[in-house]
Amino acid sequence: MAIHAKTSSVQRVIFLAVTLVVCVLVGWWITLQIHQSKQLQEAHIENLKAGRAMAWQMDSLRLLAITYQPDPTSRSGTIEGRVPQLPSLRERAWAIETLYPQVAVVPSPVAEDDPPLLDKAAYLTLRPEFLRAIEKARRTDILRAASEGSFLALVVLYGFGLIYRKLAEEMDLKLRQHNFIAAVTHELKTPISALRVWTETLFSRSLSEEQRLRIHSLMDRDLERLTELVGNLLDVARAEAGSLDLRLAPLDLGPWIRTACEGMDQRLGAGALGLKLELAPAIWAQADAKALGTVVENLLSNAYKYAAEPRQTTVTLDADGDEAVLVVSDRGHGISAKELPRLFQRFYRVGDEMTRQVPGTGLGLFLTKEILLRHGGTIQAASRGPGLGSAFTIRIPRIPPPAEE
Ligand code: ADP
Repeated sequence: MAIHAKTSSVQRVIFLAVTLVVCVLVGWWITLQIHQSKQLQEAHIENLKAGRAMAWQMDSLRLLAITYQPDPTSRSGTIEGRVPQLPSLRERAWAIETLYPQVAVVPSPVAEDDPPLLDKAAYLTLRPEFLRAIEKARRTDILRAASEGSFLALVVLYGFGLIYRKLAEEMDLKLRQHNFIAAVTHELKTPISALRVWTETLFSRSLSEEQRLRIHSLMDRDLERLTELVGNLLDVARAEAGSLDLRLAPLDLGPWIRTACEGMDQRLGAGALGLKLELAPAIWAQADAKALGTVVENLLSNAYKYAAEPRQTTVTLDADGDEAVLVVSDRGHGISAKELPRLFQRFYRVGDEMTRQVPGTGLGLFLTKEILLRHGGTIQAASRGPGLGSAFTIRIPRIPPPAEE
């Protein structure tokens, strides 16, 4: 669990670092775009002002051309003493505004830098609608840069999130596999070592009949444990390969569950489960009796392993519409809400102290889920929290009882 905690915190740091880098890059890109659009706006305004200067120049040259008409006979080269016919301000304004639509001729300055005409008859100012259009274009540019940047950041982060999740899942699976190998090795070693000791004892010592019988029953229990483990491993391998071979046939669930539960109770030590059965009659399903046996055994074995004495295990069977509903509940160790969705994953074992003290491989619930899926059914785990017991609810399609022959 320590490795797990360390890996996930390293992953979190990497994720945060990448998020930060992406955000900084996108922020920098947006700032650059804003800066460029500001420069563009300034260039546009300068362009308008250049137009205004040209309008001023045009008007001034016109005035000068009229006022100082060249006179080749005069010594100074210009007509002197004659007041020429000047165009009216209206005419001049019309000429300016037609040639330079961005410029307006106004009686008093609007902006600080609005220049007066040469004869100070009026001022030239930039039309506000042109300035507004430039400002609007700038705002649109900023908005586009911000939305493009955010979209880019989202796409990059989403892509990274997907890769990160995949990698985290892979690492998690690797870790679970590692734990699983350790658990299986332990699960195999323990009964094998016990069997070796019992075999040596049987052959090297003279024992009473009673002692032989006791050793025989202990050896039986170890062999059963090994058979169950190997059977589970084979079933899991088949489930993963999609070749879990089920023979579905109509099954009266009530009596069959009763037998399976009582058999398991005997195997775990008569009364050890504190079993209470509430089984409604005449509930039938298309089921593989052996595979459903594995399901019930796994759930009862967990109810036994993850609860302290005195245990209270309840198994109920009922009908709910088209479905048969089987609930196995206990008053044991319970499961925290954040663990519930992961219980049915391959090799998953809750990482708390209690679970670590209990032998297991993390395959039972995975196999249970796979078997139920092949029955067209589902399984759900619920718990009110650690120390408050757990309940596993199975739903499989119901069929009408077969007609009597
Ligand atoms: P195993 O029991 O071999 O570890 P399972 O797949 O059967 O594997 O169960 C997965 C995990 O779910 C267990 O390690 C345990 O932490 C938790 N669990 C299953 N059943 C119960 C239960 N009845 N009460 C508390 N925890 C449970």
